[in-house]
Amino acid sequence: MSFKELGLDENILKALSILDYKEPLPVQERVIPYMLDTMNLIVKSKTGSGKTASFALPIIQKMEIDEKLPQALVLVPTRELSLQIKEEFDKLGSFKKIKTISITGKQPFKFQKEDLQQRTHVVIGTPGRLLDHLKQNTLNVDKVKYVILDEADEMLNLNFIEDIRSIFAFLSSNPATCIFSATYPEGIQNLSKEFLKDPKMIEMEGNVKIDEYFYSVKETLKNEILYQCIGKYKWDSLIVFGKTQARVEAIYTYLKDKDVSCNRIHAGLMQDERFSCIKDFKKGAFRVLIATDVAARGLDIMKVDCIINYDMPSPMAFYTHRIGRSGRVNEKGMAITFINEYDNNHVQQLKEYLHKEIPVEPFIPYTISKQDKEIISKSTKIVENKAKELKKGRMTLYLNGGKNKKIRPGDIVGAICQIETVSMEDIGIIQVQDHQSYVEILNDKGKLVLKQLQNRTIKNKKLKIQEAR
Ligand code: AMP
Repeated sequence: MSFKELGLDENILKALSILDYKEPLPVQERVIPYMLDTMNLIVKSKTGSGKTASFALPIIQKMEIDEKLPQALVLVPTRELSLQIKEEFDKLGSFKKIKTISITGKQPFKFQKEDLQQRTHVVIGTPGRLLDHLKQNTLNVDKVKYVILDEADEMLNLNFIEDIRSIFAFLSSNPATCIFSATYPEGIQNLSKEFLKDPKMIEMEGNVKIDEYFYSVKETLKNEILYQCIGKYKWDSLIVFGKTQARVEAIYTYLKDKDVSCNRIHAGLMQDERFSCIKDFKKGAFRVLIATDVAARGLDIMKVDCIINYDMPSPMAFYTHRIGRSGRVNEKGMAITFINEYDNNHVQQLKEYLHKEIPVEPFIPYTISKQDKEIISKSTKIVENKAKELKKGRMTLYLNGGKNKKIRPGDIVGAICQIETVSMEDIGIIQVQDHQSYVEILNDKGKLVLKQLQNRTIKNKKLKIQEAR
């Protein structure tokens, strides 16, 4: 089945084609039709299966663009995931002028309040902060027709369930509710019994197949063999797991010295640093991420080409968590575990834990060529280029006046539409804030509109107008 056959709009199909989403993934094929029919759903599905687009696409399709109040609410466990989902909505909805915002804790309430006063189609956020806004009347959910609980089991682990219950109590519009969860523990079952009338259950079976290799590697040779593996396979995205912060730093320093495109993440780094590291990794700004388990847990890292267990996982359950991150959409995963001369007991434990026999093989030395070196020292940047393509022909203008000068979106539209050869079609998202406004101009007409507006008034007021930074 194609995206077109699923009944999606031309504007959405255009974005999908630029993003190179050729056909719906299994979870999308199953979820989209039900969501377009506004049915309640429980979807058992994992990160990396394409589940974000499975709910974002039907929501984008069903948004009434002129409605000022939010029509969809997406609840997520973490700020990172919230921003990631916002990004996916923005990309998929870029030709439909869908306005989304991310509302999470530890960010200034005041700015969020201001944002929520603007026309907003989709609000994504963490339950605690969203509830604060509901209690303070700064978020109006009267028009909400979709509620999504993403990674519901994680929200349960983080004790967000009571907040979610309280949020449901604010919803009077009887929205279609969809719960996405990798597992279906009792807490989620109770929640769905309480709030979801006749939900449809969708279970996405099976994991992606992962090829698992165990290499017998002397402790002192691990760095060299890691480097040879990277040179041999030239993965676009690889995560290397080390057991401690110091270990991760040491691997990072070694690979950096060898000019491998890499970065690292562990709990010893500042939150902001960790966040931008993950963001860069997702964009393909570097190839190899070296991580501790603690830092990688809870962070929404996309699926990668390969996982290398530089150190044996401990406890054993980490093995499954770690290698589960391998296997990009519709592709086989790969997981390599280094086993040193002291690891025999661990290997036995792991075999027992996994209930399977894993042969331990010696790594065949590989000589890295000049060409290999060149490739692994460069980033891939695939995603960034696609996102750039979606922004082609768009320019956002900044106006130094907003509500303080009694400007409304209609005034800005009116002024722009007076310019010859410019029409409504060329105007994207408009934001009128207290002291400033932003308007997005489409179809390569930004420069023209900027030049013309600089010589005109808006609501009889002369405003300073420039390209937004
Ligand atoms: P998710 O499970 O939502 O985190 O998605 C995993 C990855 O799959 C993301 O990087 C998406 O951009 C990508 N993706 C989602 N849908 C498709 C599709 N139909 N074709 C190709 N890639 C997709």
